Amino acid sequence: MQDGCVFCRIIAGKVSAKIVYQDDEITAFWDQRPATKVHILIVPNRHIASVNEANEEDAALLGRLMLKAREIAAEHGVRDTGYRLIVNVGKGGGQTVYHLHLHLFAGSNLPTIHR
Ligand code: AMP
Ligand code: ZN
Repeated sequence: MQDGCVFCRIIAGKVSAKIVYQDDEITAFWDQRPATKVHILIVPNRHIASVNEANEEDAALLGRLMLKAREIAAEHGVRDTGYRLIVNVGKGGGQTVYHLHLHLFAGSNLPTIHR
């Protein structure tokens, strides 16, 4: 647990959040300001600041975050209709909380962001 990290505090139960899933390595909870109808954050329980700080030993954990996101998408009825997973990395990537997290967005019309 990293002092002053709000996601570490949520994982530890010291800051309240709408938790949708928790096990010994992953926690998922609703974003406090949902940008879409479904907006859930999936995070590793261990503090990793961003993708830039992840290392080779984290590879399986990073994969499991994505598979857990798929499971949560299914539980929220959007697995088949579709959803978007986003990981912001660093200032230029729009990251504001430095505890690695996947955003699961769904249920609102999401524009294509590539060409
Ligand atoms: P990012 O910009 O990728 O770092 O996203 C951080 C996200 O965390 C934002 O969408 C915030 O709304 C969300 N957030 C920040 N603090 C909390 C909190 N205490 N509980 C739930 N979500 C939070
Ligand atoms: Zn943290």
